[in-house]
Amino acid sequence: MNLFALLDQAASRFGERGAVYLGARQVHTWAQLRERALRLAATLGQPGTRVAVASENRPEIIELMFAVWAAECVYVPINYKLHPREMGQILEDSGATQVFASPKIAPTLDAPLEVIGTPAYENRFAGEALAPPVTDAETLAWLFYTSGTTGKSKGAMLSHRNLMAMTVSHLADFDAPDENCSLVHGAPMSHGSGLYVPPYVLRGARQVIPESAAFEPDEFLDLCESHPGCSAFLAPTMVQRLVQTGRSCPANLRTIVYGGGPMYVDSLKKAMAAFGPVFVQLYGQGEAPMTITGLRRHDHVDADDAVLGSVGYARSGVDVAVLSDDGTPAAVGEIGEIVCHGDVVMSGYWNNPDATAATLQNGWLRTGDMGSFDDRGYLTLRDRSKDVVISGGSNIYPREVEEVLLEHPGVIEAGVVGAPDEEWGEVVVAFVVGDVTVEELDAHLLERIARFKRPKRYEFIDELPKNSYGKVLKRALRERLQ
Ligand code: AMP
Repeated sequence: MNLFALLDQAASRFGERGAVYLGARQVHTWAQLRERALRLAATLGQPGTRVAVASENRPEIIELMFAVWAAECVYVPINYKLHPREMGQILEDSGATQVFASPKIAPTLDAPLEVIGTPAYENRFAGEALAPPVTDAETLAWLFYTSGTTGKSKGAMLSHRNLMAMTVSHLADFDAPDENCSLVHGAPMSHGSGLYVPPYVLRGARQVIPESAAFEPDEFLDLCESHPGCSAFLAPTMVQRLVQTGRSCPANLRTIVYGGGPMYVDSLKKAMAAFGPVFVQLYGQGEAPMTITGLRRHDHVDADDAVLGSVGYARSGVDVAVLSDDGTPAAVGEIGEIVCHGDVVMSGYWNNPDATAATLQNGWLRTGDMGSFDDRGYLTLRDRSKDVVISGGSNIYPREVEEVLLEHPGVIEAGVVGAPDEEWGEVVVAFVVGDVTVEELDAHLLERIARFKRPKRYEFIDELPKNSYGKVLKRALRERLQ
């Protein structure tokens, strides 16, 4: 099984319909997209070649992705918001010998490359098309470089089988698009939005790339008015920005899948009040792409806070468990490390046997996330194990404190970390964005959570530091305390 088969099928069923759009404009039909991918594939070199793509969201990303698979090469997308030094590290680590970069990114990279969209790039489509191959499903398809919130980025090795499992699970659990639907690429295509290309291509849904090549809330909402049956993957911070526009749900918006970072209950309720029941939650990581647990659209309807604050239940085809410190399954309600296994789980990290051995154990992926199941099977994520604050011997989960801080009307953003302390080992420190005083926050928390969980210190700042995918960088917050 080769993921190219998904495009093959769409092209034979929907050949003359629009496949790729830039804003409102149709760029290619499915038949054209298939032909372009196969011609481009013929220029990429031997199977196994790592092909890096460093670009903001552009229509060409779709043809590059399928060309790489047709050539049995390995797709290595690079987040365009990374620092050139970080991009260089990924190029070096992956050993990419074919590099495609957008005109904006190309001048910042110190590597031989092809600039997307130039005459030289277009020249690659002049030759013969490759014949679509039959491929062993274990073949490496994608090197997914983790976002590196906890250190240097590692390349999770994802095979055609892994991505096919992700595709089937998405179609079974979350969304059932057809040829009258669209996937709007609001979030970066090097990450979640790009991973969702395969399921929507299989169903012949339009691939819509915003003209801004980025996430502009008003542009995104306009696209969901003009294209049919729109779905999108967005980070929680992007959902908040949609709500802040004050606009109501666009006529054709079907599904917003949010995930990749915590969505606080208060923010989720505001989003549902503004847009209605269009939300799906996913919990996943590059190592098990887009697929560990989730909440479907109707799980959000009339749900209690425990459900809305959870990351849902195990996805189709994935076993999920919580392990105690001694490695045995944790009891209901007990917090431990979340592990999972299934066809979606990576085979290891590229060129990194130590990290692979630490992460894949007895067939299970150790996620590094802490959480607990309730008696209904809903998983609540606490924090990454490294972010848990241990104060006076008690574990304090920053997310819990952040949730409560965000319930205060004066708080816009909150990030909680531990600061070293002689007496307590660590104490809780809250970074707060908003218009509120320490006394008001203290009074607010006293009414809602245990005393020992209250921050001992507040730092008021203009904005929380975030990485290029919008994840709050706890590491950067801790550095500020030193
Ligand atoms: P990445 O591999 O860059 O996608 O990051 C994956 C990490 O993001 C997970 O291990 C979690 O810590 C976090 N994450 C993903 N989905 C969620 C979610 N729905 N709620 C809270 N955190 C999430």
